[in-house]
Amino acid sequence: MTRLLILGSANADHVMNLEHLPSAGQTLMSRGYRLEHGGKGANQAVAAARLSKDETRVDFICHLGRDAIGQAMAQAWQQDGIMPYGITYTDDQPTGTAMIFVADKGENIIGVSAGANATLTPEALEAHLELIEKADYLLVQLETPAVTVLDALKHAKKHGVTTILNPAPAMVIGKDLFRLVDVITPNETEAEAITGIEVTDEQSARMAAQMLHQFGPQTVIITLGKQGALLSTKDYCALIPGVQVKAVDTVAAGDTFNGALMVALGEGKSVEEAVAFAHRAAAISVTRAGAQRAIPYRHELADI
Ligand code: ADP
Repeated sequence: MTRLLILGSANADHVMNLEHLPSAGQTLMSRGYRLEHGGKGANQAVAAARLSKDETRVDFICHLGRDAIGQAMAQAWQQDGIMPYGITYTDDQPTGTAMIFVADKGENIIGVSAGANATLTPEALEAHLELIEKADYLLVQLETPAVTVLDALKHAKKHGVTTILNPAPAMVIGKDLFRLVDVITPNETEAEAITGIEVTDEQSARMAAQMLHQFGPQTVIITLGKQGALLSTKDYCALIPGVQVKAVDTVAAGDTFNGALMVALGEGKSVEEAVAFAHRAAAISVTRAGAQRAIPYRHELADI
C-alpha cells in the first residue's frame, strides 16, 4: 500500500460578496455569505484523498480547535477517506480562520488568523513521527510554523521518504529547508519570492528553475496558471501545457495540482505524466466555485 502524508493548515474561510470593498469605518451589507472549508494543507489532503485509488492511504497532520467548524471539517475529510490519526484538537486556540471580502469586480481583502495552525509546533510534531517514518511521500506548505515544516522534512529524509514542498504562501524562507526537498512546486509569485527572478513566461521560469535546483531540489515544477507548468529535472526541461477550460474560480487550483501530483507520483507515474494528471485535476477545480468543494474526485478525470 502506498502511503501519502500531508502536513499543513486547515482554515474556515468566511466569504462575503460585496458591491465594492469597504473603506475604513464603513459598514456595507453583503450580497451573500458562505463558509468554506479551506486552508492549503487541508485542500491538498482532500485532493489527494479524492483523487487516489483505494489501495492508497492518505494521512493529514494538522491542528484544529475544539469547535464546531473544526469537527465539521474533520468529519468531511473522513468521508473523503482521510485517516484521522494525524488530526489533533487543541483547547488553546480556535480553528484557523480567514475573513474574505470579495467585491463584484473580483478584488478582495483577506485577514487570516492562524489559530490552531500556530500550535502545530515541533514539540507537537513528536506525536506524529511514526506517521512520517511510514510514509512514502510527504507534502508540506508554509501556512504552519516553518520550524515544524523543517523538522518534518528532516525526519522524512532520515527515513527515505520522498518530500514535496509547495512553498506557499510566497515568503522568504531559510535555504536550509530546500536541501531536504526532492520536489518543489512554486507558482510564479512564489518562485520570484525565493529566487528574486520575476517569472512571467517560459524563459524566466527556466532561469528560476535553474536557481531552485542549485538550492537542492532535483525536481522543480513552476506552475504558470492557465499556461500550465514548467517541469525541470536534471535531464529534462519543458513547458507542459495545462488543460483549456472556462475558469470561474481559481481558488485551490494550486492545492488541487499538488495533491494530484503526489497521487500520481505515488502510483509510479513518471514526473511528466504526473504533471499532466495534476493539470487535469486542477483544470476541473477552476471550473467550479469554492475551495474544498471544487476539488474533483478520481472518476471525474475521465471527462476531461
Ligand atoms: P496557484 O493556484 O497556486 O496560484 P497556478 O495559478 O499556477 O497556482 O495554478 C496551478 C495549476 O492549476 C496550473 O498549473 C494549472 O494546472 C491549473 N490552472 C490554474 N488556472 C487555470 C486555468 N485558468 N485554466 C486551466 N487550468 C488552470
